Amino acid sequence: MLNNQLRTNSLTIDVEEYFQVEAFANDVKKQDWETFESRIVYQMDLLLDLLSEKNVHATFFVLGIIAEKHPNIIKKIVSCGHELASHGYNHQHISKQSRQTFSDDINQAKQLLEDIASVQVTGYRAPCFSIAPDNEWAHNEIKEAGYLYSSSTYPIAHDFYGVPKAPRTPYYLQNGLLEIPVSTCKFRNKTLPAGGGGFFRLLPYFIYNKMLKASSKQLGFINFYTHPWEYDPQQPKIKSNFKSNFRHNINQHSALTKLGKLCEQYNFDTLANVHLNNTYPSLGNWQSIASGNSD
Ligand SMILES: [Zn+2]
Repeated sequence: MLNNQLRTNSLTIDVEEYFQVEAFANDVKKQDWETFESRIVYQMDLLLDLLSEKNVHATFFVLGIIAEKHPNIIKKIVSCGHELASHGYNHQHISKQSRQTFSDDINQAKQLLEDIASVQVTGYRAPCFSIAPDNEWAHNEIKEAGYLYSSSTYPIAHDFYGVPKAPRTPYYLQNGLLEIPVSTCKFRNKTLPAGGGGFFRLLPYFIYNKMLKASSKQLGFINFYTHPWEYDPQQPKIKSNFKSNFRHNINQHSALTKLGKLCEQYNFDTLANVHLNNTYPSLGNWQSIASGNSD
């Protein structure tokens, strides 16, 4: 018997290459991406095979630059019944983009994905959850580009991302865009990251699962995220600092087994299916939402 009979849980996958991650942004220049061995086809096959074996439909936030180079990946995502969503085109942290560059990036990605897959793309996730409290304009550009929802906040404190005071459950912004935060868990007044990433690989499954169960109980849904590169211990190693290498490479060998367990334990569906027809509060202005003044 699955834990949650109602489908309120989503598994989301941010589709990018191992050399495009923000943690290596100081070590790998964008103009050198071409020189790295691509591993995405192999990694996506691993994930798509696992999901089809476990009968799980996920949401894939795909980079435009990946879609352009590997259109077959996009077609496979859609033909397997998953949701195709956008991770922008270039995977640049929003703080490194002007409003116009950001607008071009997210419009280009949406158009590309829709042209390749012939489906409507309604979901967006910012690279590295990088919409900061002062980026109200980013939400306006996302809405303007035609997206219906964004899953771009992680309400925790972290060195690369996080809006710790933002709400932990879905809400509408002033402009009508739905924001679906990544899963967190409150423990002794601390907000812990329960939504995937490096902690999922680092911690033993039963400890991680305790956090996820608590999160699901507290919030009534799960929004779990992961990346294809997290399941490929054979990927070339990037020369970087100890912390970035540790976070990136830790326990990649055991991650697929863990993800399989997660798929057996929880009843997952896409973010669009779970959330788009629900009623959520409208919280208004992003700056006040991000500073915790909307609750
Ligand atoms: Zn990303």
